[in-house]
Amino acid sequence: IPASDEYATTNRKGKKDKNNNTDAAEGNSRRVLIVGAGLSGAVIAERIVNVCQGFRVTIVEQRDHIAGNCFDYVDHETAVRVPVNIKTVNAVFNLTIETETEMKAWLKKHQITPPSGKATNSEETAKSRVGERLYELLFKDYTKKQWDKYPAELKPSVLERIPVRSNADGRYFHDTHQALPSRGYTRIFKRMLDTPAITVKLNTEFFTSRKRGTLGAHDYLFFTGPIDRYFESSGLPALEYRSLEFHREVFNTTNGFYQPAAAVNYGTAKIPYTRSIEYAHLPNQEYEHTKLKPLKTVVYHETSTDKGDPYYPVPNERNTALYKKYQDMANAEEGIVFVGRLASYKYFDMDDAVRNALDTFEKWVLSNDLSDEC
Ligand code: UDP
Repeated sequence: IPASDEYATTNRKGKKDKNNNTDAAEGNSRRVLIVGAGLSGAVIAERIVNVCQGFRVTIVEQRDHIAGNCFDYVDHETAVRVPVNIKTVNAVFNLTIETETEMKAWLKKHQITPPSGKATNSEETAKSRVGERLYELLFKDYTKKQWDKYPAELKPSVLERIPVRSNADGRYFHDTHQALPSRGYTRIFKRMLDTPAITVKLNTEFFTSRKRGTLGAHDYLFFTGPIDRYFESSGLPALEYRSLEFHREVFNTTNGFYQPAAAVNYGTAKIPYTRSIEYAHLPNQEYEHTKLKPLKTVVYHETSTDKGDPYYPVPNERNTALYKKYQDMANAEEGIVFVGRLASYKYFDMDDAVRNALDTFEKWVLSNDLSDEC
């Protein structure tokens, strides 16, 4: 700018006159049309009106902005923290909340009490916790992508899972003790199952193997698959499940990471993924003991689908009522125990699933008079 000003000053034919329009108004000006508001058009326009006297310039530009391919702007897209805490609210609403008391007051002011006093669906749950704006931003479209249903179509329990914090704690769960297995999950299973008294037959489908009589004779049966699949021949409609698709990508990295956190959730409908997980952020990475930063990082983008392996039971009125019918049939089935996320049609967390299996085992011991053996 200084160089150009200087140029303008030394080369002017006359005094810099910011009121060229005055000339125009007086009818003395010559008119120039410039096509294109890119670098060339803008420079020529600037020169003409600042160096020459008595000129007016019109620029026509087919795009909706000036600056051609130099067009730049500040993109206010930001990542905010979930679960909602002080940092989330400060970032979204440009506030400077510092204390829990202030945060509690903010929440109280924005939380929307459900019409009936108690939330009857997940939209009411979310709004009663974080208010309208954060509901729209973080939960509405994410939930549509994940469940193919809006929160209003799901029971309160789905969004009751998400904590809201009045401090700056960004952890997902409330549990006092939170950890990941130091050598991974599969190893835990390996150690539970690695004994001669247990045989694992992989690639063996229960229903076809049973039909073919290739499973041998057993005294008891525990079924942890989808309950509606077990009672397929009953003629009842199928229960809904959501599945996940994982899209693996490898990125080059200089600082070791692709994204700012282990999980980045996409609350917008514009991005097809629900979230992306970067495992390098999780503890117990192999390279942690070296001073080297990895040059590549693995990221899995997740999308949700109703095809493929069932992951999530879908808790709405229809499915809950239908599940009750399956449950009645399960209760009437002698010698079979239905257990787990798919057989109980419950959105268990991992610790709940383990607890539930332990309780089921205890009950089974008692109801089968096996206390002497077990
Ligand atoms: N959810 C959301 N936005 C988020 C995180 C979660 O709307 O950023 C909603 C969504 O409906 C999701 C549910 O809360 O399915 C439970 O989230 P969670 O992360 O516990 O799901 P999971 O890890 O079991 O897939």
